[in-house]
Formats: sequence, C-alpha cells, structure tokens
Amino acid sequence: MSIDKCTSIILSASPFRESSLLLYLFTREHGRLHAIAKGIRRGDRRSVPIERGYLIEHNTYIKPNRDLHLATDFNIREHFPAIRGNLEKTAVRDVLFDLMLGAVRLTDPHPELFDYIGAFLVKLENIQCRGGRLLLFLSKTLFGIAGHLGVGIDFKVCSGCGERFEESTDVWLIIEKGAVRCGECIKGHPNTHRHLPAGTAFFFGNFDNQCQNQTPNLTNKQSMGVLHTACEYLRYHLDIRRRFESVAFIEKFFS
Ligand SMILES: [Zn+2]
Repeated sequence: MSIDKCTSIILSASPFRESSLLLYLFTREHGRLHAIAKGIRRGDRRSVPIERGYLIEHNTYIKPNRDLHLATDFNIREHFPAIRGNLEKTAVRDVLFDLMLGAVRLTDPHPELFDYIGAFLVKLENIQCRGGRLLLFLSKTLFGIAGHLGVGIDFKVCSGCGERFEESTDVWLIIEKGAVRCGECIKGHPNTHRHLPAGTAFFFGNFDNQCQNQTPNLTNKQSMGVLHTACEYLRYHLDIRRRFESVAFIEKFFS
C-alpha cells in the first residue's frame, strides 16, 4: 500500500454506512478513482464537508489490485459556489460528469485532461451566458475531452475536399469516422449523418472555449441537437454504456 497526495475533482459522492462517503474522483495523478472517505459525515469540527463538483486535495491510500481505495485528509481548493447555486450551470456540469463517470478510458492518468476539466469548471463558474449558448459551450467541451483522449475532430476543414469552413457553413459529422464534411461532400447521405447548423463547426474549430460573443445564433432546440450529437460521439468513441439521466434532465430544463 502506498500513500499518495492527490488533486481531484469529485465526480460523485454518495452516503455509505453511517458516516462515510463513497466517492468517484477524477484525480490528476491516477485518472478516475473509486474511494471511500471514512467518518466524513460525522459533522464534527474535524470533518470537512465535501460534495460533488468540488476541487480538492487529499491523501489516497492506494491498494494495488483493488478497486476501492481510501481517501483521507481533505482540503477544499475550490467549491464553485456559482455553479452550485445555479440550476442551469449545475445541469451542464452534471452532463460532463456523467460522461466522465461512464468513459472506460479514464482509468489511466490524464493530467492534461484534468487541467482542461478544471479550466472548464472555472469558466462555468464565471460565465454569464444562459440557455442554448451554455449548451454549445458544453458541447464544445465534450469534443475537447474527446480530443484529449485521442479521438478529437478537426472542425476547421472539410475532410472530403479540404475546404476551410466559414461562419456560414453547414457541416455534417460522420460519427464513426470522427470526420466533418461540407454539404457538397456529404451529398446523397445527409440524413445518415449529424447536422451541425451554420457556425457551429466554425465555433468549435476556431475559438477558445468561451461562450460569449462568438457563439453561433442557434435556437435552444438546435443547440440541444448539437449536444445530443456530442454525447453520441463520446458514447461511441469512449465506450460509454451507462444511461445519462443528466441529459434527459437538461432536455426538460432547457426546452
Ligand atoms: Zn467538402
């Protein structure tokens, strides 16, 4: 058994026995980790209350060849109060966390992906936009995660003719191939592929992960469609089998 100092994002926390928590953590050091936090719900002064969505530091007692480890000595680095206090933002965060919980490939260390998710949470904490724009910001982040796991998409150019996409270009995504094509190159099969309305691919390919002015002007329904496409893409390429109640929730919430 070894003791490791870890930095983690709490993907889920559920009560266990009388005073403990079962945690799924995305750690910078070990990738996704299942751990128990003993005695943390006692409510005395020594125990630090922790919740889903927190960025924390802690010690982990790593037991080789075991699935469940022991986490202790928690220190909260960031608790993201603006996300927790806003239903829309919480719903957006939860879709991302559900994907992280379901993606098979996350059990190896991915320090860069960890930093990317950390940066996403900081942006989500601070952004002002709402509704469909928030969904596009989430979708862009999901494709960014795919990129960190080696199945990213080049949203800048058509994979058929090599033409650069403009802000006004409608684009189609071929999920199995991880490739995007223009209307000319998708001819004959537009309905079997996922449509990204004008400006979406351009936004995904050209801007930093923000959601202010550069976001294309889509209806909420169109933005929801783009989010479904992103989820479908990750499900296919990252071998995700679990159901996403968070996506169903967000659908109701944003419609
Ligand atoms: Zn083309």
